[in-house]
Amino acid sequence: MLNISGASLLNNKKCNIKIKDGYIHSVTSLDKYDGDAISVPEGVYVSPGWIDLHTHAYPRFEPYCSHPDKIGYKTGVTTVVDAGTCGANNIEHLCEIAKNSKTSVFSFLNIAQNGLEVRNELANLKNISWEKIRDSFQAYPDLLVGLKVRMSKSVVGENGLEPLKIARKYGELLNKPLMVHIGSSPPKLTDILDLVEKGDVITHCFHEKEGNTIFNHEQMIHPSLYQAVRRGIYLDVGHGTSSFSFHIAQQAKAKHLPFHSISTDIYEKNRLHGPVYDMATTLNKFLALGYRLEEVIQKVTEMPATILQKPELGSLAKGTVADLTFFTVEKEQLELEDTYGKKFTTVKRIKPYAVTLGGEYIVCDENEIEASY
Ligand SMILES: [Zn+2]
Repeated sequence: MLNISGASLLNNKKCNIKIKDGYIHSVTSLDKYDGDAISVPEGVYVSPGWIDLHTHAYPRFEPYCSHPDKIGYKTGVTTVVDAGTCGANNIEHLCEIAKNSKTSVFSFLNIAQNGLEVRNELANLKNISWEKIRDSFQAYPDLLVGLKVRMSKSVVGENGLEPLKIARKYGELLNKPLMVHIGSSPPKLTDILDLVEKGDVITHCFHEKEGNTIFNHEQMIHPSLYQAVRRGIYLDVGHGTSSFSFHIAQQAKAKHLPFHSISTDIYEKNRLHGPVYDMATTLNKFLALGYRLEEVIQKVTEMPATILQKPELGSLAKGTVADLTFFTVEKEQLELEDTYGKKFTTVKRIKPYAVTLGGEYIVCDENEIEASY
């Protein structure tokens, strides 16, 4: 039994956590410190393990690559989801990497078999093979959670909406959701929204690429986006190197647009040189926007777990897997930057402190995290 005492829940009540065989045995209010327990310092919070819904965790495809553990447990993230770095040609290798990682790994399979081996994988529809997609889902049912389709001009070339129509058809055959990347047009966002269904994810929701944002010409959020959300489509941040505009996110907050998950779209280049760096930095941007700590943490725990249809990953209930993230919230002025070079500040800073994974308690390596700033 692993006992951890003294961490605060988000309601600021301190707790005792008991973990047995990697599963939560109990989370109870702290009456007294258990002598045998690992005692966490004052001011450390605990939440379900952070889930990064949009990452690039396949080390082979530079620069869209990282290693699951580098962007995972070492930075407080207990689950990373590879968002289409791999297509069917490389999924076997990603599965091997996943098995050898401490961090849990899932994947949205790129509908193009070559994945991000190239940057315009959907400009040639011959890259899409139903047989290879079907065989991948049969071979790796635990790893694969859906299909990734990147719907921007630079990726689809002259193919317009066709890749999304194909993905829609295959998603239905597999009974799996789509993660749809949005960006430069054509295709237009409003046309994409006509083709997404309940359970699908739109990623890069706060990008500011010319004429194709979530706002229409009257600076109103597209009515079809609200309709999509009402239909059960999820909106994901997918910060990345060029897809997070502080201005768009601020306007969306002012209009009370409900979005669902905060993810990084992290890979080696934006991890080392910014503006992503890590999940905590991305979360801090949402504190800077004025979201409450509880909302921010929910969008990196409970919500992505719901999107993945794995609610047990976003819960502290007895019997659920004991992936936990411990973190502090320090009063510290921090300068942040969006992907368009706009600088803004926060006065609260979330910092990962430790995780539990597979029944093990691991303190996040401060030096390693700091080195990436
Ligand atoms: Zn991405």
